[in-house]
Formats: sequence, structure tokens, C-alpha cells
Amino acid sequence: GRLSPGTLAGLPAAISRPRYDRAGLDVGIVHIGLGAFHRAHQAVYTDDALNAVPGAWGICGVSLRSPDTRDALAPQAGLYTVGVRDEEGERLRVVGSVVETLVAPEDPAVVLARLVDPRVRVVTATVTEKGYCHNPATGELDASHPDIRHDLLNPTQPRTLAGFLVEALRRRRAAGRPPFSVLSCDNLPGNGEVTGSILRAYAAMLEPDLDHWIADNVSCPSSMVDRIVPATTADDRIRISAALGVEDAAPVVTEPFTQWVFEDRFPTGRPAWEDFGAEPVADVRPYEAMKLRLLNASHSCIAYLGYLAGYQTVAETIADPAFERFVGALMDDEVTPTLRMPAGADLAGYKAALLARFANPALRHRTWQIAMDGSQKLPQRILVTIRDRLAAGAPFDRLALGVAAWMRYVRGVDETGAPIDVRDPLAERLRRLAEEAGPVAGRLAPALLSVREVFGDDLPANPAFVTAVTGALEGLFDRGAWYCVERLG
Ligand code: NAD
Repeated sequence: GRLSPGTLAGLPAAISRPRYDRAGLDVGIVHIGLGAFHRAHQAVYTDDALNAVPGAWGICGVSLRSPDTRDALAPQAGLYTVGVRDEEGERLRVVGSVVETLVAPEDPAVVLARLVDPRVRVVTATVTEKGYCHNPATGELDASHPDIRHDLLNPTQPRTLAGFLVEALRRRRAAGRPPFSVLSCDNLPGNGEVTGSILRAYAAMLEPDLDHWIADNVSCPSSMVDRIVPATTADDRIRISAALGVEDAAPVVTEPFTQWVFEDRFPTGRPAWEDFGAEPVADVRPYEAMKLRLLNASHSCIAYLGYLAGYQTVAETIADPAFERFVGALMDDEVTPTLRMPAGADLAGYKAALLARFANPALRHRTWQIAMDGSQKLPQRILVTIRDRLAAGAPFDRLALGVAAWMRYVRGVDETGAPIDVRDPLAERLRRLAEEAGPVAGRLAPALLSVREVFGDDLPANPAFVTAVTGALEGLFDRGAWYCVERLG
């Protein structure tokens, strides 16, 4: 059998499941980017909210790219299992909040029609950093992006987040309907500001004055999201299906920890997510900086250095005492002095919890997965902090080693000479630059520093930065990642 509304009642009693009538739900939320993260995070908070108050907030999950998740979820009427794992075991819960799944490339008109439906009042998004089609160093829409150019020429058949949302908002305005709020849940600093800025920039090119209407009417609150959700593996599917007694083709696995802080600007309403642990705040920036600079920066350093040292997962990497010391020192000595937290925030507790979360042996979070899209991640995870350290005249050897490890990684050859499958929107260009430079720190570092979308104009012109990164890269070529990590731990 298959997980579905018909098999729900027969699941083992220990597995929790929706207590509301799913058939009676309206779609009130459209989520763009139906990946693992949304289903283990926002959809769970919404499932909790629906258990309390059923009705208005069913989710329509839209994929802008591959049909995989829809293909797995459609035969299950959107039902899937969340497995919460730690050393004590796995707790299973079937989530029911996703009531519709759409694949945008198959029929963009259906997605637009859904987005224009007045019952939809909130749009959430997890489209990865590159889905914003912006310049990561400046936060502005990249008007030369091929998909953006496509959308401007074919606004009723869009491909991008901006293309879909702006066309839907244009139609809503024309029909005299209120807009929806747009809540980005991607790991970008000022993700609401970035979203508002790309929507306005795109709108200005699409139709005169639409950008002003969006500026005046469309709320784009920022959010900080925190829950580690590795890509689901075949083992996860087999194990969870066995526990259910029916097949779930699309479960997600995650950790017990979850956090969601968002700016409370939803003029058209939202579910009462705060009743289930979410934290509405006036200003999300300090939380966002804390999370990006501690969790995500550590993750990226673990990804590149751990991968190069031969480790497959975050848990394996952090189980090596040299890495644990390195990450602890990176957070305490180099990142913490740059954070300005509101009174009462428990940074020491957050950092201690992070090390424990990284060590969770029940999560197989691959270094290779986190290493993906480094060109889109480095600026807000690592380079922002380095800029603060440079301005303060303070050392940043561990962060510099993280940047150097990214350079070593995107060459596409590991320490044993085996190829690395580098996934990045700039992968081809990075590989070519690395090939021309060769495996010599004094040539490879300047070659990659010339990628201005990543490093801006300031860092490549800063001798302290260039020296630190080049020196770290030399260490990686001469001695290998493990030795460099051990030396700075
Ligand atoms: P995933 O690989 O399961 O899903 C990625 C989603 O993004 C898919 O729906 C895919 O279609 C879409 N996507 C990918 N490239 C795109 C592009 N160029 N344009 C538009 N859409 C694109 O990944 P996930 O685990 O769901 O993570 C998605 C995002 O969620 C992350 O990039 C991050 O910003 C945020 N996030 C994830 C985690 C986590 O632990 N997984 C934690 C916090 C935040």
C-alpha cells in the first residue's frame, strides 16, 4: 500500500497524523520551492496551526524545476512523513498541510491562476540562494540573468520566482484584489529586503509604475529559519516506509531543533504560527546574523574542509576533535565579536547547541550537499564577517581557511587526486579560472578573487585579505586540510 488518506487510519498508533479535515481546507498559502526544507519546517508549523484551527491555510507547493517531489506526493494526496532523529531514535509524524502540488514548467498558467486566487494571502519561498537571480555581492536583481530575460519576454509563461510573483501581483492589481505577503525562508541576509528589491526591479522592467504599487502594497517580511534538513536518502524511504507499514515515497528527516523568527508584517493575515513556537519580532536582523554567521558559516567551513579531509558527513567531520576545536574557536574568537545581539539572547547556549546538533549521528548531512552553490553562499556566510574583522583590525585565520578551502574545492580535484562533482551556478567559470591558474596558491587565489559577484571590489583590493587567503591556500596545497584545521584548532 501507499501512504494516502485511505491508509492514514491504519498507521501504527505511535505515529501522529493530521486531526483536521484536509478535504475542507482552502489553499491560503502558496509555497514556491517544494524541497525537503519547507516540508520539515514551515509546513510542520502550519500543520500544527491547522490541527488547532482548520480552514483557511492549506498549502499549495510549487516546484519551479523538477517534478520529483510532485510525482512522489501526488499519489499520496500530499501526505508525507517527517522523521525527527537523534541518538535516542526516530519519531514519526505524518503532515497534512500540503494539499496541492504543482510543477511550474509543466503549466505556468495554473500556477499563476493559483497565485491570483484571492484566498491565497501568503506566499512563502525556499528557492535556494540562486533562485533570487540576484548578484550575491550587492543583493540586486541580475537583469542580465537568462531566466529573467526570458520572463520579461514571456511574462505569462515565467520561470523565476520574480517572474511568477510579479505577474500574479500585476493581475491582482488589475482585478482590484489585495496582494499577498511574500515571506522568503531562504538563508539570505535581509531575505525580505532582497525579495522586495528583486520584485520591484523586475516589476519596473515589466510595467510602468507596477514597482511603486508593489513598494506601497506588498509586504515582504524577513525571516530567520533554522532546522537542519538533509536530502532524503533511499535508506530513509525504506526505513520510514517499513515503520509506517505503507510506502512513503517522499519522507523528510530532520533534527529535533527548530526555530523560526519572522518580522510580523502580514497585512492580509497568516496562520497563528507563534502558537507553535515561531517567534514574530519587529527586527529579525540580529537573529539572522547570528544564524548565518555561526551555523551557516560553520557548515560551509565543515563542508569544504571536511570534504577535503575525506569526511562524507557533518557528523563524521565534527566527531574529529581537531574539527570540533576548530569550529568552536571559529565561532568564539572570530564570529562572536562581530555579533550585536538583543539583551537576553543566549549566544553561548546557541553555540553549544550548534556543536551538539552538528554531532547528531542520526543525520547523514553530506558535506557535498552543503558545499553546493558556494559562490552564492560565501558572501553572506563568511565574507561579511571577514569585512567586520578587517575593519576592526582583528584576525580571521579560520575564516580565511574556509575561503581557501572553497577555492581548493572548486578546482574539482580532491586531495587524493579524485574528481569532485562541483555544483554551482558558476561552476564552469570557476573551473576554467582554476585550470588556467594551476594548483599554485599564488596564482589560484588571485584568479578566483577576480569573481566580483562573490568578492566585490573591496576584498580583492585588500592586501590583508589577499595575503591571508593566499597563505591559507598554500597550506592546503602543501599540507592538506586536516593539518591546517588541526593547527588552528
Ligand atoms: P532541496 O534541494 O530539497 O530543494 C530545493 C528547492 O529549490 C527545490 O524546490 C528546487 O526546485 C528549488 N530550486 C533549486 N534551484 C532553483 C533555482 N535556480 N530557481 C528556483 N528554484 C530552485 O533543498 P532544501 O533542503 O529544501 O533547501 C532549500 C533552501 O531552504 C536552502 O537553499 C536554504 O535557503 C533554505 N534552508 C534549508 C535548510 C536545510 O537544512 N535544508 C535550512 C535552512 C534553510
